Order: sequence, then C-alpha cells, then structure tokens
Amino acid sequence: MILLSKLEPKIKSKRWKPKAEAELLETWAHEDTYEFDMDSGREIYTVDTPPPYLSGPMHVGQVTHYTQIDTIARYRRMQGFEVNFPLGIDRNGLPVEVRVEKDLGISMHKTPREEFLRLCRERLDKDEKTAIESFKRLGIAFNTYEDEGSYRTDSPRYRAVTQATFIDLWNKGLVYSDARPNNWCFDCGTTIADAEVEYSERPTTLNYLYFEVEGLDPIEIATTRPELLCACGAVFVHPDDERYAAYHGKTAKVPLFGLEVPIIASPTAQMEFGTGALMVCSYGDQADVMAFRDYALKPIAAVSPDGTMTEAAGEFAGLKVSEARKRIIEALKEKKLLFKQEQSVQRVPLCWRSGTPIEFIAMDEFYVKQVDFIDELRKVSDEITFFPAHHKQILIDWLNRVSVDWPVSRRRYYGTEIPIWYCNACGEPVVPKLEGEPQYYQPWKDDPPFSKCPKCGADEGFTGEERTFDTWMDSSISALQAVGFMRNEKLFKKAFGNILRPQGKDIVRTWLYYSLLRTFQLTSKPAFKEVWISGHVVDENGEAMSKSKGNSPPPMPFVEKYGADAMRMFGALEAGLGSDVRFSEDRLAGVSKFMTKLYNVARFISMFPVPRPIAFEKLTEVDQWILAEANKMVERILPECNQLDFHKPAIEIRGFTWSFFADHALEMLKGRSFNTDGKFTKKEQKSAWFTLHEVLKVITRALAPLTPFITDRIYRDLYDPNGIHHQPYPSIQKEWTSELTEHTDLVLQTNSAFWKYKRETGISLRQGLPEAFVPEALKPWGRDLQAMHGVEKIGFGVPSAGDYVEVSIPEHDDSIHVLPPTDE
Ligand SMILES: [Zn+2]
Ligand SMILES: [Zn+2]
Repeated sequence: MILLSKLEPKIKSKRWKPKAEAELLETWAHEDTYEFDMDSGREIYTVDTPPPYLSGPMHVGQVTHYTQIDTIARYRRMQGFEVNFPLGIDRNGLPVEVRVEKDLGISMHKTPREEFLRLCRERLDKDEKTAIESFKRLGIAFNTYEDEGSYRTDSPRYRAVTQATFIDLWNKGLVYSDARPNNWCFDCGTTIADAEVEYSERPTTLNYLYFEVEGLDPIEIATTRPELLCACGAVFVHPDDERYAAYHGKTAKVPLFGLEVPIIASPTAQMEFGTGALMVCSYGDQADVMAFRDYALKPIAAVSPDGTMTEAAGEFAGLKVSEARKRIIEALKEKKLLFKQEQSVQRVPLCWRSGTPIEFIAMDEFYVKQVDFIDELRKVSDEITFFPAHHKQILIDWLNRVSVDWPVSRRRYYGTEIPIWYCNACGEPVVPKLEGEPQYYQPWKDDPPFSKCPKCGADEGFTGEERTFDTWMDSSISALQAVGFMRNEKLFKKAFGNILRPQGKDIVRTWLYYSLLRTFQLTSKPAFKEVWISGHVVDENGEAMSKSKGNSPPPMPFVEKYGADAMRMFGALEAGLGSDVRFSEDRLAGVSKFMTKLYNVARFISMFPVPRPIAFEKLTEVDQWILAEANKMVERILPECNQLDFHKPAIEIRGFTWSFFADHALEMLKGRSFNTDGKFTKKEQKSAWFTLHEVLKVITRALAPLTPFITDRIYRDLYDPNGIHHQPYPSIQKEWTSELTEHTDLVLQTNSAFWKYKRETGISLRQGLPEAFVPEALKPWGRDLQAMHGVEKIGFGVPSAGDYVEVSIPEHDDSIHVLPPTDE
C-alpha cells in the first residue's frame, strides 16, 4: 500500500475551473509581462493586430481568430523577441453608421453632422467596452489595454497620420479627381472600390428583343437588364459572325425608346452568347464603360445615385430599378418587341458591406493610383514569407485583376475627413503643408491652416471638402501606425521591417493589398516580413456561421463554461493554418477534458519536491529515456511552430502528454517516486522526481502560447512565482538523447499486455503478480516495470518451463509470460 498522507500536493485546488482563469487575469493586470519596451535591446517583433470592426458582441470566428494571433505573439515573446502587439480598434466607416441609422430610425444625410458623429461615437464606446472585456477574458496579451500603446482608427492621433499620408501621396502626384462611372452602392450612398465588390449568382430572366434595322431583318438581342435600354449606345456583333456581316455600319433602333444606335463589329461580342449580338449600355459594367470610351460613344445615365431611373427612362423615370424592369418587360410584351424569355443565371455585383446590388454611376471622386504599382507589388510580395505559403496566391490573383485606380472618397460622415479646401475664387483644391507632428483636420467645419490660394493668390476664403476616406485608407496603415510612422522616428527605425500581418483570407484583396500598396507608396518597402492568413470558422456542417441562419451561438458563454484555454486549444486542434475550423460544442467539451487531465497530472507531480538539477548522465536510464521522448516531441513541433501553425503542435503535445506521459511514463515512475517499500535508492527516487518535473516544465512551456492560463497557474505554483510567460519556449536539448527510444513502442505495448491480462482475468490493476517475463530488450525498464505492474520477480525473454500465461504483444512478434497470482 502506498501512503499518500505523507506527501501533500503543492497544487491545492482539486479541480481546474474556468473561474481560475479570471483570477489569473487579476494577477496579470498588475504585472508587466506583456509590456512593450522598445529599449529592451531585444529584437522588436510587431504583430499588426487586425483592428476589429465593432459590431456588437464577438462571434466564434473572431474568438478563434484573435486567440490564434495571440498564440503567435506569445510564441514569439517566449522565443525572446520584444513583442509589439498593440490593441487596435477600427471604428471608422459604415458599420456603425448603418447601426445608428437603423437603431435610432434616423438618416445620416438628414441628421446634423456633429450630432450624427456624436451618436456614432457613443455607440462605438459601448461596443468597444464589450469587445475589450472579451479580449481580456480570452487572455489576449496585448501590450496594454490602456490608451497609451493602443490605437483607435477614429482618434485624432490616428486620423492625423491617415491625413498626412494622403497629403504625402497628393504631393507625389498619386491622387487625382475624376468623374468616371464606378461601383455605387445605393444602400451606403457612396462609391465603393472594386475590392469591396462581391459577386453572387442569382437566377434571372434572359429577354430576347427585336432591334429594328432599316432594310434588313430586325436584329435579335438577349438581355438580362432591359431597364438599361434607354442608356443603350451601340449594338456589338463579332467581326467573324457571318449572321451579321451585312449589318456592320448600319444603325439599329432601340425598342420602346426609339434611339438610333450604331451596329459595331467588335470582338467583345461573343458569338455563342444569346443571339451573338450584344447591346452595350452606358454604365452596365466595367466592360461597357471601356466600350463607350473606346468607341467615343456619348454615355447616358439610366440610374441616378438614389437608385431610381433618370429622365432618360422617359415614362419610367423615378421608378426603382427593379420596378422599372418589370414595367419595361410588360411594355415590351405588349408591343410584341419581346419574343422569348429564358431562365438564366446572372453574376450580380454586390456591395461587400451591405450585401445589396450595386450599379455603375458616374460621380466625381478622388482616386489613388494603383494600376501603375501592380508590377512593383508583385515584387514586394516575393519578399514576404506567407503562412501558409499557398495563400499567397489569393493576393497574386487579386493583383492580376486590378484594372482601375482606387476611388478613395466616400460620401459618408463617420470617417477620416479628406484634408482639402477649395479656393472660393478659382476652385483650386489645396491641401495643408506637411510639417512637424501630423495634424488632424476637419475641413467641413474648420478653417484651413492657410489663407491665400497658392494658385491664384486670392484670399477670398476656402470651402472645406465634405467627403471622408474609404476606411481602408485608415486601416491600410495600421502597421505603420504601430511602429510610430511619422510620429516616433526612433521606434520606426527599430521596428519597421519586422512586422507580422495576421489576417483572415476574406480580406486579402482589401486589407492586405491596400496595406502593401500604401506602405510601398509611402516608404518604397514591403509593409511586412511575414503574412499569416487564416481560414474561417464554420459550423459543424461546414456552413458559414451567421446570426440570421441561427448557427452562430455567442462564444462567451462557452468560455465561461469550458474556459478560455479550452476555447483557444480547440481552435488550434481543429484545423491547420489556412483551413476552415468547424465549430462543435461536443469537441470543445472534449478539449476541456484535456485541460482537466493536464491539471490532474500536474497536481499529482506537485506532491513530489523539485530536486536540485541533476546532470542528464546521472539520471537512471529510464528517466533519460523519458526526457529523450520529451525532446523528440519538441523536435517534432518546432518546425510547425516556426511556420506559425499550431495545429500539429497542439495535437502532438496533447498526444505526448496524455498517451505517453500520463498513461505510461507517470505510471512507471510512481513506484520509484513514492518508494514506499524502499526498493529504490534515494538517488533513484530523486532522479524520478527530477524527470517528472522536467517533463511537466517542457509540456507547460510548449503549451503556454496556446493555453496561457492553466500553464501559468501550474508554473507559478510549482516553479516560478513570476509565471510561465517569461520563460523561453522549449528548445531541443542536445544531450537529451537515449538509444532506448527505439524500444518505446515495445514498452508501451508491453504495459498494455499487462493491463489486458489483468482485465481479462478479472484481476485489479493494483494487484500484484508473483512473476513475469518481459522481452529481452526491456531489461533497462525491469525494476520500474516491476513497480508499475506489481511484479514480485521479473525475468527477461522466454521462461523455460512453468505455468505461465502467454500474452502476445501485437505488432512486435513478442509476448509477456505471466505467472497468475495464487489465492491466499
Ligand atoms: Zn453598400
Ligand atoms: Zn484660387
């Protein structure tokens, strides 16, 4: 019998509870573990936090995303980097405006600007509090949660830099104004960039119409958008299409509207599509816009910025686009101009934010040049390491698609103001000078910081610009802001060049692309050294999670139930970097069982004192073997960790902890650690204690970035009152090798054979056996195996004779021979 009473576990609490995590947060709040000190002398590693858009409580996807990024930051910190990991919050732009409009039932453009901004700010402050509470609870180790060292994209300080970078581009001639048709969202009431357009396939009707041509048969044309007939500027037929050879150079009459339009032979017409003849409308899509430019056609706007038909639509003017389509089809049918209808599928361009269809509408907007930079950006992306490497292709695909410059002006309120004033005398747009600390300007209400027009010299006053920037203008410089660009030259010099951009794959063409573009335009350098692109979190069936679908449960109750550590570990265990994580509460519960197991292992080991360090060669052979196995585990996880992918490491560490260390090594060392009957020497006993503690240290340090709470608790209780997060990440210990590792599987299978024998003969696991033979190769384990399985007398190899029961060891062509206990 083992006397447990003498040895008391140093870890007092019997169970690991999520509540214990909250207690640690209190401790962390009073320590400087995560503080960023640019003068520490260590190499600075900046994590360019994705500043979340605040839109109410976090969802499961965000929880996984941020905890994975935090895992990287913690890993780098344990590797010895000075980690610059600021808390960033993106507060600019539509989401808050839309919510304020919806919740309060007001319209932005009908509310006084100052008042509307105040309502947005109030709303954001409330949401921000919730977000920060969640971040803290999840153990996200930002440098600080205080104002200093964090940023908000709507703060005067942040906006001042956004504006200064714009003025820099303006001075470099990279900004221009143009009244070209572009993506227009009626819902958002603003122009949006190509990067913010998504496509969705929708069923539609293909309408076949007659366009009359003098002296020839009418030309048949198929269109999905008859409401654009009034903006038709030409009919295209393919030059090789023999059906229309006679029509080249003739004019066609647009049905219903009577416009005479040229029939042009153009290779853009596809012979196989519809009837092969194509109606080209002013602002149908980007291709139409190009066609109008190429053939010098006069554009006609069919749709106005408020989403209704213009005067050009005649009797249909003022109707909403969808209503106009219905009425125009009716009229065409009535006049027998429509001869066939077919069901078809259409690729509809949608606004990325509001999810509603967009139209091409000509508005005066500011553009930042980007087409000219695509080649340079290809080179820049070659200088960056992508994790996983294959996700670089998402960026390359987008670079190949960029064809027009970036419209950056938005007709919205809650954004960074475009810092321009227009001369009242000559209309010249004037930007402030770039000197000293960047200043924040609000031209819609402030006087300009200059009085004379640099162009005409007049001092008749200026009118401030009212538009704001596309919010990507702000968030695309989050990394530059994090390293003190334009504000802290010393920090910028030290930190720029070693920045990690972690982000989701859905915002490669926006956040990543714009960041690379803007940073290159401002510094001529790549923005990042590393780019980490994660997948999404989907539901159990692989479906995207959304509140409207009802498959997106709020995550924080899970955190309270199973713990932040379990939630964090779950995200890593479920999928490799770049792949989608399927959320399942059952499997999350399974992960929390591992937390319990780890805690129980640590609590058990905490019964034994931590002996003074013992040189590796002075340990028993079995202890050397256990440490060598721990070393091999570290060897297996490091390459993946260095790819910033903690999926396989999480699986490896869990497997090692549970299936090797807890189930076998710990069981094997129990006897020697307690040494109740004095069969082992003091030295051998201490060797066991040392080994158990060393392995526990390796496991907890390897897990610390993933499960920062439980590992810190264990470390504080056992090894270091300052906690685990100052410790180095486990590295390969050269001397921790042992030839015995080649027999590891045989050892484990031998243990299983003993357990199997006892189970099948109805003997309790604790009951002893008078005698047993184990394979010859297991000699070094002999005494520990005896202690583990309660074997009185052990032999090696095959016994010559006797009443032994043979239990085979699968896959090893070997067996154990056991002498059954006699009843006494
Ligand atoms: Zn929109
Ligand atoms: Zn002027």
